[in-house]
Amino acid sequence: MAHSQDLPPGTLSELRQRYRIERERRVRPDGVRQYLGAEAEFGYYADDPYAGETAERAPVGDGVDAVVVGGGFGGILAGARLRQQGIGRVRVVEKGGDFGGTWYWNRYPGIHCDIESHVYLPMLDETGYVPRWKYAPGEEIRRHAVRIAEKFDLYADALFSTSVTSLSWDETTETWIVTTDRGDRFRATYVITATGTLSELKLPGIPGIETFRGHTFHTSRWDYAYTGGTPDGGLTGLADKRVGVVGTGATGVQVVPKLAEDAEHLYVFQRTPSTVDVRANRRTTARDVGADRHGWARERRDNFLRVTSGEDVEQDLVADRWTRSALLLEKLLPSFRRQGDRAAFEAAYEIADALKMNEIRARVEQIVTDPDTAGKLKPWYRYACKRPTFSDLYLQAFNRDNVTLVDTADTHGIERMTERGVVVGDTEYELDCLIFATGFSVGVSGIHSGRLPVHGRGGIRLQEAWAEEGPRTLHGFTCNGFPNLIQLGGVQSASSVNYTHVLDEHAVHAAALVAAAEAGNAVIEPSREAEDAWLAVLSEGAPDHAWFHAECTPGYYNAEGRGRPNGPTAYPHGAFAFHHLLKRWREESMGEVLRARTATQP
Ligand code: NDP
Repeated sequence: MAHSQDLPPGTLSELRQRYRIERERRVRPDGVRQYLGAEAEFGYYADDPYAGETAERAPVGDGVDAVVVGGGFGGILAGARLRQQGIGRVRVVEKGGDFGGTWYWNRYPGIHCDIESHVYLPMLDETGYVPRWKYAPGEEIRRHAVRIAEKFDLYADALFSTSVTSLSWDETTETWIVTTDRGDRFRATYVITATGTLSELKLPGIPGIETFRGHTFHTSRWDYAYTGGTPDGGLTGLADKRVGVVGTGATGVQVVPKLAEDAEHLYVFQRTPSTVDVRANRRTTARDVGADRHGWARERRDNFLRVTSGEDVEQDLVADRWTRSALLLEKLLPSFRRQGDRAAFEAAYEIADALKMNEIRARVEQIVTDPDTAGKLKPWYRYACKRPTFSDLYLQAFNRDNVTLVDTADTHGIERMTERGVVVGDTEYELDCLIFATGFSVGVSGIHSGRLPVHGRGGIRLQEAWAEEGPRTLHGFTCNGFPNLIQLGGVQSASSVNYTHVLDEHAVHAAALVAAAEAGNAVIEPSREAEDAWLAVLSEGAPDHAWFHAECTPGYYNAEGRGRPNGPTAYPHGAFAFHHLLKRWREESMGEVLRARTATQP
């Protein structure tokens, strides 16, 4: 634990004041309304640049055992775990042209996963695959998604370049009717939704954005036809181009070094600097992974989750900046496990935070040679206010003559756009191309936004059912009135920075529910009492993080500066404890949500 003597006197009060000033500079009155959904104004952003020509196909009208909505890691893992339970016909429906989800859409230059590959890539034990790097490039991850889908034969019934448009429970047959935007209308006994949390991209509502004559695209729809090159770089098409990039989050930090290498000139429009910690990527070694030992990946993944959930471990196997900063993630993950005297914990936490942030700011000063640029790149907020980033290339890019950092904090981002470029303060920056690294509506799935209507028993819509009291679920997966519907990775469960681990545990759980229902000729549906009991568990000891986020610089963690709901959104004892709870429940109580089928299959 950190002590006050580790910091010079007065540091904490000075930092608090500085953080408050920097926050005030950035809070916008329009909050979350500052963004545009991509489809709303810029339909072309939603196109799939990777699928090629979408082949015509006849609509399907058959029946399957299970439909999985979404073909990212959540959907793939659900499919794989259903297969392991012996479920025959599993149909994954995916908007993209192939499996991969976020790794299908995001292929921008420099893309890597910043969680260690040996814990991030799921089913390494089952597939025998050993990632080549400690932090894997996106294409290796996408190929691994395909590898799992092939191994578990998920291509057979999959529908690609297809979006589910409605899910309706048919009481007489006790099956779901699924419709899609390709004219399909088929039945499924079970529905598993795995629609992801990074699927709805967003763009800043910059005045004049539609007048810009240059080229634009979002990082999750990279236009290699324009830039040339590949995710490894070599963007020869930019050699004579003035390129702008908006956004300096985890994506911006990865893409800027590649753009800097190849653009004639790069303007980085920054609103809030990220914390950029050491990356230290390297080749996988035999010592890392014990490749000849079955179960090594599971052991390592569990170890990472323990460390980042605040559990005690004998050895930190991953030993990187995530695990070393694990304590500071306490506020980032609302379900972090914490014990002991709260006031003492908060005091020590603030000191540890100050030490970490001083280290991050000192790193900027060491690397960036121009003092004015270095000053703008220093983050002034507490560590868990924004998602941490890691790079050994990003800060260095600002030492190049062809890279200009444009700080837009005082104008709350880019002020306006013209035919020729971008205006910030008194300056118009003329550009040939502007790239949006502006992220996604994080945590918004089609089901919660209502874009994918779900009609349960009696035709009631899920959104209506939750309108008054908010979400009601058992463990986040199932809900009363919506039989045989299982939601993956949603609210009221517990999360981790290693999201694929969470998804895999959820997939195991979903498949076990389906297998139990099949074995018992039953329908899966929790009672309202079971939901109430779960809501009570969520409320017990839910950590009070609202005050922390209310003092943070704006971003998607705190609804752009408005604070964060402190209601029971997640299991309060962390993902590690949650997974144990689920396992025990499966062994002892799963029968509670099963009731005998009354219909015969159509
Ligand atoms: P983010 O939402 O994290 O960042 C968006 C960026 O755009 C911010 O820097 C934001 O500034 C900036 N921005 C938004 N509007 C404006 C504006 N009007 N003017 C100037 N700047 C603006 O998006 P990312 O794509 O970086 O990340 C999204 C998610 O993807 C993250 O949750 C991350 O977890 C995940 N990701 C994970 C990776 C991994 O390796 N695991 C890699 C990349 C992404 P401000 O901060 O001021 O709001």
